[in-house]
Amino acid sequence: MDFLKMLKCCLNPKVIIGVLAVIALFYFFAPQLLRYSGLLIVLICPLSMVLMMSMMNKGQNKSEKVFVCPECGFSYKDAEWAKKCAAWCKEHHSCNLEITSHAVEQNKI
Ligand SMILES: [Zn+2]
Repeated sequence: MDFLKMLKCCLNPKVIIGVLAVIALFYFFAPQLLRYSGLLIVLICPLSMVLMMSMMNKGQNKSEKVFVCPECGFSYKDAEWAKKCAAWCKEHHSCNLEITSHAVEQNKI
């Protein structure tokens, strides 16, 4: 069992800060709940894993594949639109609003 990796996972500073904040809240507002703080610490591991997994998923969504028109640089989710745009751009040296309205927003690199 890869205990060290698990431990590294648990040492995600954001998760530790979050758990400490919750324990502090318990301490100030509901001291009778403090006995459950041990349970909370046990939950750090699965919690941080879920957190990391959701972060990874977000990263994957960002790198979604798009088709870029080589003429104007607009990107499209659909290869068809990218082709149409490229054809139009080559012919007219300007962008067709109807086509570019299908473009996806992209962070400038
Ligand atoms: Zn284009």
